[in-house]
Amino acid sequence: MPYDPLLARAHQHARAFLASLTDRRVNAADADPTTGDGVRIGEPADPVAILDGLARIVEDGGLATAGPRYFGFVTGGSYPVAVAADWMVSGWDQNAGLNVLSPAMAAIEDVTAGWLLDLFGLPGGCSVGFVTGGTMANVTCLAAARHEVLRREGWDVEAQGLQGAPVLRVVIGAGAHASIDSAARLLGFGTANLLRVAADAQGRVIPDALSAALARAGGPTIVCLQAGHVNTGAFDPFDPLIQIAHRHEAWVHVDGAFGLWARAAGDDGIRGQADGVEAADSWAVDAHKWLNVPYDSGLAIAAHPPAHRASMAQRASYLLRAEGERRDGMDWTPEASRRARAVPIYAVLKALGRQGVSDLVERSCARARQMADLLAQHAGVTILNDVVLNQVLVRVSSRSGKNVTNDVIARVQQEGTCWVGGTSWNREPAMRIAISNWSTTERDISDSAASILRAAETLEHAV
Ligand SMILES: *Cc1c(COP(=O)(O)O)cnc(C)c1O
Repeated sequence: MPYDPLLARAHQHARAFLASLTDRRVNAADADPTTGDGVRIGEPADPVAILDGLARIVEDGGLATAGPRYFGFVTGGSYPVAVAADWMVSGWDQNAGLNVLSPAMAAIEDVTAGWLLDLFGLPGGCSVGFVTGGTMANVTCLAAARHEVLRREGWDVEAQGLQGAPVLRVVIGAGAHASIDSAARLLGFGTANLLRVAADAQGRVIPDALSAALARAGGPTIVCLQAGHVNTGAFDPFDPLIQIAHRHEAWVHVDGAFGLWARAAGDDGIRGQADGVEAADSWAVDAHKWLNVPYDSGLAIAAHPPAHRASMAQRASYLLRAEGERRDGMDWTPEASRRARAVPIYAVLKALGRQGVSDLVERSCARARQMADLLAQHAGVTILNDVVLNQVLVRVSSRSGKNVTNDVIARVQQEGTCWVGGTSWNREPAMRIAISNWSTTERDISDSAASILRAAETLEHAV
């Protein structure tokens, strides 16, 4: 069978890479990866040699982002069962767009959607779209929001567009993620029209500020809140905020890319921070971050399935639709043809069970606290956030009080024990450490903290 030598080779390369993750330096090799190819596509080549060549490119320029000591952005690895299930998805090459294209994939999506709603404690009647990631989840949910708030004004935005439409008011927190801006661009809201309301020291929207913003003359309104601030991990106070927004008949969207997973934690302190989020109208979540499935995997969830479907579904004579209660995946996503993204999620949820997902979340939070405690022992380190989730925000100062955080980050990245990224917080450079990999151990944290402190010590006398 023509697949055999290639799948065997792919297995060998993937295995070698995965096996290297625990010990591999967590930075790209200095070499610029080269493909050795010219500008024109060449003669046909030997497929096994192509796979070997690809492996070499990753050897030069790949990064161990899936490993246990990569703390940049908010990045998950992949559970073994998720990688394996994802291989099967590629092998099957099923189209998850329509029920008639693959009843098997449709059935798996259906079950997985139900499990996710259960884990997040969201109403069972919500619709779920399996999208590429958090950004597309935000876009999808906000398209549903746009549909609904304009429909209530008697405006059909799918047919008429936004030209001549009642003016939409889109309110976001000062600490909203940049992907909300992407959504505003794609959906025609315009980033300059976004109304930004004040947030507190942890980046949480202040209820009085939202009240004040909504008290001004209104019109159809969408309010975007956040579960899990990208720098601090903080949650907007959902109970008061959603009440205020709903009093003004706004659609409330929650970007919970990583933070919504707190809802799966057994620990009250972690889970309770997202209390009240179930009253929102839509939720965006990533699976490829904290659930640790391969890219690309996000979830667009809406409490108003007709609005969700109206903003996404395609209609054409040749699109044979499922009958009765059966679900067509493409009704809930921007794409039509699509990879069966639910399969790795299904595999992980089945492997972990409810308890395992809770353990994953609680363990990551405990490691974040461990990291913060270890770093805080150093006189020059200030932990800038309340470590309430998986995020640690750090400033490093020299003895003379100079902010040397960016130099420390550069040294840490150079050394390669772990990878931490930078951000700015209160207009000052800060280090951002996000812990969301299933395989990160206490030892990984202590080794990484030691590396960060070594770098801090070398800069202690900077003036
Ligand atoms: C990562 C992230 C996003 C964007 O998700 P992608 O999967 O990268 O598209 C949106 N919001 C928040 C809060 C995030 O952390």
